[in-house]
Amino acid sequence: MERLWSPWRSKYIESFSEKRDDSEKRCVFCEKLADNDDEKNLIIHRGGLSAIVMNIYPYNSGHLMIVPFSHKGSFEELTEDEGLDVMRQTRLAISLLRVSSNPDGFNFGANLGRVSGAGIAEHVHFHIVPRWSGDVNFMPVLADAKVISEGLDQTYKKLKEAFGSIKK
Ligand SMILES: [Zn+2]
Repeated sequence: MERLWSPWRSKYIESFSEKRDDSEKRCVFCEKLADNDDEKNLIIHRGGLSAIVMNIYPYNSGHLMIVPFSHKGSFEELTEDEGLDVMRQTRLAISLLRVSSNPDGFNFGANLGRVSGAGIAEHVHFHIVPRWSGDVNFMPVLADAKVISEGLDQTYKKLKEAFGSIKK
């Protein structure tokens, strides 16, 4: 199955931008985290201060995000404890990906601010994108179009199963 995500991605971002104003703030991350259906929301794990969440518009199969629980729009607002928990969940996420899909490498980072490519700029989050040699010759993480070969539900299941095989 091949799918080009970019048109959907743009619509998705627009739908959240339009609805946001000062009186009614809507944040897709806060909504997911407040909901109790982690499977529906593709939340892999909830840590102490942040969660591992699958990106529903992935740049590669297994594209994960570390999302702090607190709604903060800038990196510097994160407390030291939040920063530490982001690192803890990043380490866990990488371990889970290694077990579930054996990547050759990872891209890890953040787009801070809309101009840098952040889709949801008002809630700081971090990306972990697994990479395989030959997945594409040149695939910048910030590219807007990507061919995805594995379904989200399938990836979710594999990542949850990986918990059994890693040291925590
Ligand atoms: Zn939020």
